[in-house]
Amino acid sequence: MEKVAYKINIIGAGVSGLIAAQVLENEGYSATIYEATDRAGGRVKTDLFNGYQLDHGFQVLLDAYPMAKKYLDFKALHLQKFLPGAVIFKNGDQNTLGDPLRAVSLLFPTLFANIGNFSDKLKILKLDRELKGMSLEQLFASEEKSTLEFLKEKGFSDDIITSFFKPFFSGIFLEPHLGTSSRMFQFIYKMFGEGLAVLPKAGIGAIAEQLVSKLKNTNINYSSSVLQVLEGKLILKDGRELQSDFTLIATDPSNLVPNITERSTHWKSCHTFYFTTPKRNIKRPLIGLVADQNAIINNIFFHTSLDSEKRGEDELLSVTVVKEHRLNETELTKRVMEELRTLCGIHETTFLKSYHIKEALPQLSNLPYTVTPEQLRWSPTIYVAGDQQLYGSLNAAMITGEIAAKAILKEINAKYL
Ligand SMILES: Cc1cc2nc3c(=O)[nH]c(=O)nc-3n(C[C@H](O)[C@H](O)[C@H](O)COP(=O)(O)OP(=O)(O)OC[C@H]3O[C@@H](n4cnc5c(N)ncnc54)[C@H](O)[C@@H]3O)c2cc1C
Repeated sequence: MEKVAYKINIIGAGVSGLIAAQVLENEGYSATIYEATDRAGGRVKTDLFNGYQLDHGFQVLLDAYPMAKKYLDFKALHLQKFLPGAVIFKNGDQNTLGDPLRAVSLLFPTLFANIGNFSDKLKILKLDRELKGMSLEQLFASEEKSTLEFLKEKGFSDDIITSFFKPFFSGIFLEPHLGTSSRMFQFIYKMFGEGLAVLPKAGIGAIAEQLVSKLKNTNINYSSSVLQVLEGKLILKDGRELQSDFTLIATDPSNLVPNITERSTHWKSCHTFYFTTPKRNIKRPLIGLVADQNAIINNIFFHTSLDSEKRGEDELLSVTVVKEHRLNETELTKRVMEELRTLCGIHETTFLKSYHIKEALPQLSNLPYTVTPEQLRWSPTIYVAGDQQLYGSLNAAMITGEIAAKAILKEINAKYL
């Protein structure tokens, strides 16, 4: 059978589905993607709203991710770099804590920051060195505990944990308790230590757009929701039945395949608010953390401290909320604006838009770094990919997309060639 004659269907045009399509194309196959929404990207999208680029939730790319280096053209994305550090708002004060080894301008503010003690600052550097000496496989094979337990065992003070680690990593893990696996913490810490947090000049969605633009022989059907996946066929929501030699489910498979034993994924959610302000009180591209235990705001960022392709006249500020609460949208917006005034000293804000992302990151434990093709092969015709198969990260989405596609290629090679 000719390679192009195989009917390989991918469900989902998120990062994992797009990478899978690329891997198949590289080997001469052409897949068809069915995407429920009207555009590609999944959780990685950017809207243009009133002239401002708004990402669907504040997120960053870490340029040390091995899979991002492999599959993305960094130069074409015009990556804008964050400074390695953060501005911490605490008790009405604003302190800067950074990695002075990589951003010399942060040396003095870091040493004199009223956050943590001197021993904490040395421990931060020590952990950096320790993780640089470990491979990703070693790190994911280490004993798993919660991030909070890990930090306590390393001897960090309560002050540095509550003032820095909690808000910084809560913004990444999208949960406020540091209950996330210590393996994930070490992975992210290592990636921060070996590279920088960056954003494409056109917003995070440019990552997906670049992946789509590289696909030459893949057909993407938008607004095409798949209802069910059966052996050898797909049923679309509009009732159509399609023959499928291989189906790759590049999203949460739990509602798509009848009688699956796999537990359904639990998801962590977050709210991201966008405001415009006439001026910014964090001049450089540093994330702002709110270190007040009672605050609803976790982190803020002035997107206009980075260069962007499109921008309105004012400064653009995003605010991320990860804590559980019972406030409705109006009450939450009011509370956020009040905290911006009282805790961050940001007085003039105009609300632009908010995103409530209910399924932002999968809640997982016992995290491995990677998977085998066999683990992503559910049957001779059904395969799975997506970050929920590993851990919530672009790196994981890319790994699973690549390996699931390779599992299909392996099956074709074994059976048909
Ligand atoms: C707020 C937020 C912050 C984040 N921060 C970071 C970060 O800083 N760094 C980082 O590395 N990662 C971050 N992530 C995680 C990262 O975005 C994800 O790991 C990655 O995008 C997941 O890609 P995916 O392909 O696995 O899934 P998805 O992006 O969820 O793609 C799945 C696709 O399948 C489609 N689909 C679902 N069901 C069907 C169906 N029945 N039929 C057809 N199509 C269907 C969906 O519409 C979607 O397009 C963040 C995520 C969020 C939401």
